[in-house]
Amino acid sequence: MSEYPQCPFCTRPNIVIKNELAFVRYDNYPVNRGHCLIIPHRHVSEYFQATTEEKAAIWVLADEMKIIIDQKYNPDGYNIGVNIGETAGQSVPHAHIHMIPRYKGDMENPKGGVRGVIPDKQKYKKKIITT
Ligand SMILES: [Zn+2]
Repeated sequence: MSEYPQCPFCTRPNIVIKNELAFVRYDNYPVNRGHCLIIPHRHVSEYFQATTEEKAAIWVLADEMKIIIDQKYNPDGYNIGVNIGETAGQSVPHAHIHMIPRYKGDMENPKGGVRGVIPDKQKYKKKIITT
């Protein structure tokens, strides 16, 4: 029984793996093959509202899901990210962690990784030293 029937994560659809406090499902709009979400069972609006135990459960599932994704999709790397608040791009107000497998060539220059949330600042710029 879901805590918030209108919440797409409280209905716990399409569970891939789970533990006592969290579960994993694939993203409905994946940015890459194997893009999944790690979600606490309890409805908390964002990551920092999860308990220490829920956060631990989330990261245990991240490790377990990596094994599954590695076997199924054989990615070359991963990005893991959390959108917290609308300003940061959070669209579903139930905490969730994005785990995004990365593949060589999936973008022209991946340097900077999650820094790309602000595209102009993804690439490292030479530090300008003034005296
Ligand atoms: Zn929810």
